Amino acid sequence: MHKAKALIISCIDFRIQRTLMRWLESSNYVGKYDHISIAGSLRDIVKPENEIYLQNLIRQLKISLDLHSPHEILVFDHQDCGGYASDNLIPNGLSKQEDFIRHKECAQKARYILFNEYEIKIPINFYYIDLLGNIESLI
Ligand SMILES: [Zn+2]
Repeated sequence: MHKAKALIISCIDFRIQRTLMRWLESSNYVGKYDHISIAGSLRDIVKPENEIYLQNLIRQLKISLDLHSPHEILVFDHQDCGGYASDNLIPNGLSKQEDFIRHKECAQKARYILFNEYEIKIPINFYYIDLLGNIESLI
């Protein structure tokens, strides 16, 4: 069994990739993680726009867990995310503080759903990336 240090779930948005890579390098994750890159990261867990989107995300997640038994899941949300804005789950144009609070609420829901409905028992940590290149813990 090839064991991964972590499963990373992040948005596709090009604006956050440099910040995310820098963080993964400085935190010693490079070469040690599976990566699901999907618009809005876990937004389809919280409020799926489409059942197929949800099932695809869960499928990718379970494949990583089954094949590589990561020690933890790290989820990266970000400021001004179009994935969350597509149905106004978190609209664009909020202040950074308000945007952060809304992502925090979604992160709490996502973690609850993953623990209770999908019985994912490894730690799930959520981070927020702003558009200035900062990463902070969400929950
Ligand atoms: Zn995004």
